[in-house]
Amino acid sequence: NRRIVLANRPRGLPTTQDVRLEETAVPMPDEGQVLLRTLYLSLDPYMRNLMDEAGTSYAPPVALGAPMVGGTVSRVAASRHPQFRVGEIVLGNAGWQDYVLSDGKDLQALGDMPQPSFALGGLGMPAFTAYVGLLDIGQPQAGETVVVAAATGAVGSVVGQIAKHKGARVVGIAGGADKCRHAVEELGFDVCLDRHAPGLAEQLAAACPDGIDVYFENVGGVVFDAVLPLLNIGARVPVCGVIAHYNGAEHTSGPDRLAQTMTALLQKRIRMQGFIILDHYGDRFETFSRDMSQWVAEGRVKLLEDVVDGLENAPTAFIGLLEGQNLGKRVVRVAAA
Ligand code: NDP
Repeated sequence: NRRIVLANRPRGLPTTQDVRLEETAVPMPDEGQVLLRTLYLSLDPYMRNLMDEAGTSYAPPVALGAPMVGGTVSRVAASRHPQFRVGEIVLGNAGWQDYVLSDGKDLQALGDMPQPSFALGGLGMPAFTAYVGLLDIGQPQAGETVVVAAATGAVGSVVGQIAKHKGARVVGIAGGADKCRHAVEELGFDVCLDRHAPGLAEQLAAACPDGIDVYFENVGGVVFDAVLPLLNIGARVPVCGVIAHYNGAEHTSGPDRLAQTMTALLQKRIRMQGFIILDHYGDRFETFSRDMSQWVAEGRVKLLEDVVDGLENAPTAFIGLLEGQNLGKRVVRVAAA
């Protein structure tokens, strides 16, 4: 039983030295427990926040020496729980390890979902985040301009496609020409700008001649600086994530932007709202699930998955995610289904 534990609290971008692979015995379930065999592990930006001492408002930090946390799709390998039988495929939170015991409380049976890893991406948490943030907070109207960065990532790729479906004009921002080509040619974005190319602010202004009505905030940093002057009166800004700041890299120095930001919010009557997707499962997940399954079946939304093989490769795959190497939802295939 391999597991990857947090060895050090990273400074800046994590390195492979910040985690450690350990071997332990496979545990045996007690009465009321199941033993889970991890098949797929989700890699998500929030894991970087949980490596810090402070953790987040919605989850405590990973303790030093403890396995890294994470959403998983697992097979029930042994069961002493009345609701779960051996062989069943379940969604849960086994973390970065081969095997784990569970009391079943946080497990959800996936039935015969054809591609169970989609429960971690295009039919699960990241796509649900895109749906709630865009539709409930962003509320794009037909003909409006929607901008989203990390446009070919797990959340952004779905934001752009739903916005197109709602009749908006969609401008993506992504890291690299290949990703941008993919966003336009495969996902149907109207325009996609490479954030590494010079002159992002000028290019964005040219790509948004009618200004920006909805900015779905995934990244912060220099992208937000480029967006702010283009926001229209009454613009909506769902604040989903600020990945540019998770490693403490951008904007540690430089001019204070607070006055400029507050003045724009005030004078343009902008509604900026943060949200944490965990709050919305009770009232919105079912509707999301129904809509999303339909849009995927109709070919309106394409699900992009970026699969890395082997638990031992999770650390480099995670660092790569923070550096923008992924195209679509990054998952680790830990064992064959
Ligand atoms: P992605 O699949 O989008 O992967 C992360 C991407 O972020 C990278 O591929 C890279 O794309 C981009 N990125 C990395 N560093 C920077 C940077 N310095 N500036 C701009 N872009 C950068 O991840 P997710 O779709 O899972 O997450 C997207 C955002 O949504 C994150 O901020 C995450 O924390 C947030 N989130 C929030 C939730 C909530 O409940 N509020 C729930 C789920 C996610 P590229 O190189 O193409 O720009």
